[in-house]
Amino acid sequence: MNNMTIQELRKKFVEGSYTPVDALADVKKAIAERDGEVHAYLELFEDADEAAQKAAERYKEEGDDAPPLLGMPIAIKNNILIEGKKTTASSKILENYVATYDATVIAKLREAGAVFVGSTNLDEFAMGTSTENSAFGPTRNPHDVTRVPGGSSGGSAAAVAMGGAVAALGTDTGGSVRQPAAFCGLVGYKPTYGAVSRHGLIAMGSSLDQAGPLTNSVSDAELIHNIIKGDDSMDSTTITDDTYKEVSVKETYRIGVPRHFLQEGLSESVRTVFEDTLKKLEAAGHEIVDVSVPLMEKGLAAYYIVMPAEVSSNLARFDGVRYGLRIEGDDLLSEYHKTRAEGFGAEVKRRILLGTYVLSSGYYDAYYGKAEQVREMMRAELREVFADVDALMLPTTPTPAFKLGAKSDPLSLYLEDIFTVPANLTGVPAISVPAGTVDEDGVALPVGVQCIGPHAGDARVFDLGKKILGE
Ligand code: GLN
Repeated sequence: MNNMTIQELRKKFVEGSYTPVDALADVKKAIAERDGEVHAYLELFEDADEAAQKAAERYKEEGDDAPPLLGMPIAIKNNILIEGKKTTASSKILENYVATYDATVIAKLREAGAVFVGSTNLDEFAMGTSTENSAFGPTRNPHDVTRVPGGSSGGSAAAVAMGGAVAALGTDTGGSVRQPAAFCGLVGYKPTYGAVSRHGLIAMGSSLDQAGPLTNSVSDAELIHNIIKGDDSMDSTTITDDTYKEVSVKETYRIGVPRHFLQEGLSESVRTVFEDTLKKLEAAGHEIVDVSVPLMEKGLAAYYIVMPAEVSSNLARFDGVRYGLRIEGDDLLSEYHKTRAEGFGAEVKRRILLGTYVLSSGYYDAYYGKAEQVREMMRAELREVFADVDALMLPTTPTPAFKLGAKSDPLSLYLEDIFTVPANLTGVPAISVPAGTVDEDGVALPVGVQCIGPHAGDARVFDLGKKILGE
């Protein structure tokens, strides 16, 4: 199973040389061997066996006419609702919450035949960059268990990287699919905002959140994305298919590199892998040009105002009355206080405080209003640059995977998001592809590079990703 793609599995399933039952058995073997240490999964689903058996039967009857993901063992980040399963967002406040319906993305994967192996660990409510912020303990990087897998979809990334699933679903609010993909040697995809329905995702920052795949190939990511995407009456921000028409796929691309943005904080090892990738693209006939996008440098500052503002509002619903944990108090207000004090972890509280502050009267214009203005200007800046170049390239992360506990200061962790947040703030599509490894203490650690496309340029981003990986 290790590093096998959906496409390879599909061929075997159709031939009958290896069945969905075999695949699930191999996945479970990998989990039994490694997950005690890695802790990618929060729960393994017992009904996966039955689903795999049914899938195997269906291949006998339907062969290549079977639905595209039939029998594929897929892991799901535990902030995405699966009917009848615990959906905790790795928070004590939702420890015993059982979802009462399927998220739209889950319904679509189910329809396509996916076998859900289990739910994966994340930073509490998807707030973090290392999966150390989970109320249920951290996840470790399968390439080096002394290091983090990235976050917040670290459990999903680790599950695929250790052979515990062929692919996984994550959510990306500021890099949470791309960054763990980069740390674990996978492909990670953040779609155009609105391409994928958010119905049934536990909201973090509603104007930023998108669900995306973590896979062993770009083709697999594209396959999953094309299954889960689409206009949804349950999410008014979803976009329709005709939005995509203007952006074309080409033989060779004119690729912009904002070198002014690659100064402080970028490690030499990641820089080398990034520059090598550009050289290879140039040798293959693509044009690499320097571009200037000065507002991108303001992205991190704007993100850490807009995101907590949305967090403070989205998390107001966890009050001990509607969902999950309830600690009784003398009156309603003390019940709210006690429940939230007990149920939320430190990072979640920090962001609720920050968000409440930037939204409060007197500060709204100075912080939240300003950040939204910067965001609008960033969008305009990108539209201008995409009139000149087909795509932009950046490293995915400033460093390779770091050691657990190395970034206990929240600010140092926030800096890890510098290259990923611009795509969320502006709503454009971005992919992280594995571009090489760097040696750290004798271990080969994966490094990712990121391709960013214009709004609705999802097909082009996939195409460029495939060209980088030679697919
Ligand atoms: N690392 C970023 C943060 O901590 C992004 C999180 C995400 O995309 N869910 O906010």
